[in-house]
Amino acid sequence: MKLNLKNPSEVKVSLLSYGIDCDIDIFANYEGDFYENLYVYGNTNQAENHHRFPQVLLLGNGVVSAFLRRERSPWTLRIKDGNCVRLYHRGEYVQDVRLPEIPAYYGKRLSDSSLSDKIIAVAGEQTPGFFIYPKCYYFDEGTFCKFCSLKPSRRTVASELEASFENGKLAEATRLFQNTPWRDMPIVSITAGTARTDEETHRGIIEKIRTVYNALDPKIPIHILVHPPHDLAMIDEYRGAGITSIAFNIEVFDRELFAKICPGKNKDYGYNKWMEALRYARDVFGDYNAFCGLVWGLEPPENVKRAHREYLDQGIGITSNIFHNDPKTPMRRHQHPSEEFIMDIAHDQQELYNRYPEARTIFPMSMRSTIDWEIHRRDYR
Ligand code: SF4
Repeated sequence: MKLNLKNPSEVKVSLLSYGIDCDIDIFANYEGDFYENLYVYGNTNQAENHHRFPQVLLLGNGVVSAFLRRERSPWTLRIKDGNCVRLYHRGEYVQDVRLPEIPAYYGKRLSDSSLSDKIIAVAGEQTPGFFIYPKCYYFDEGTFCKFCSLKPSRRTVASELEASFENGKLAEATRLFQNTPWRDMPIVSITAGTARTDEETHRGIIEKIRTVYNALDPKIPIHILVHPPHDLAMIDEYRGAGITSIAFNIEVFDRELFAKICPGKNKDYGYNKWMEALRYARDVFGDYNAFCGLVWGLEPPENVKRAHREYLDQGIGITSNIFHNDPKTPMRRHQHPSEEFIMDIAHDQQELYNRYPEARTIFPMSMRSTIDWEIHRRDYR
């Protein structure tokens, strides 16, 4: 299979599969500013705080891609004339890429003098939101998901990011990003880690969402990625707090692999209950507004394709992340999925979007580690 490197969406497939081989200091002398990776939940570039890397690369035609620094990739970067970033494949020039702009609401001080950059988390290129409750008790139990680097990242490169999200600060930060003229803001993105008890989920997650929602004016959709609660009735509370769509990512479709890769989710929650929570959320939020995410590259593409059919048939939305092997995780040596692997699922998913026209993507724009939006736009013909 040969990708069309004139199509930014196919370049993205290859970049997510191989990463980019470049010097760790490549952006040290870049002349100009860009929105740097803050490593909110993972340090895939093996970077330290003083290394500058963009959170995403802008490939053109609205397509953004995660920046993954990987040795021995056929992709390389060169910086010409101080700020022209050029992308090469096996030594051949492919295209120039742009770096993401720093959000206009960054670099501002809140009333307690904390810096907005440490509080507001930008998903993809431009979707504001928060990573509230940035911890997961599965790390304390030694049963964390084997690809996840939330805890090691929060201890190192991301140690200065806000972790407590006191309510006043959240409301102020919400007003700041909504009232600062910058880009269109169709949705707010909230990510939350995993609390041990429903009571903690209520206090540490749902109440915080309510604060964000109350501060929004005008009200816009709020999406959350979170672990399902034990008491399913709490899913109604998410809706009551202002959430408009929700993702409970099971990550792996195959039950045995799920138990191996996500031992905490398997032991303390369980596969069947996870699916029950998704169906409950579908009933609360409406068809295709409750999403189940899989990580492509943890199991054969046939599994992912089968899962997609099962979920869509039940009115559950599909969403994905393409696996990247982060340092300090048990899966640090696991191969990234190949270009063929990614394209195989992409073609299948494109067909499914034809068959289930109500199914949509979570975000109405390109995001960094998934090609859902590009598939939905029919970019892989
Ligand atoms: S549930 Fe798994 S993926 Fe989510 S934060 Fe915990 S370890 Fe990471």
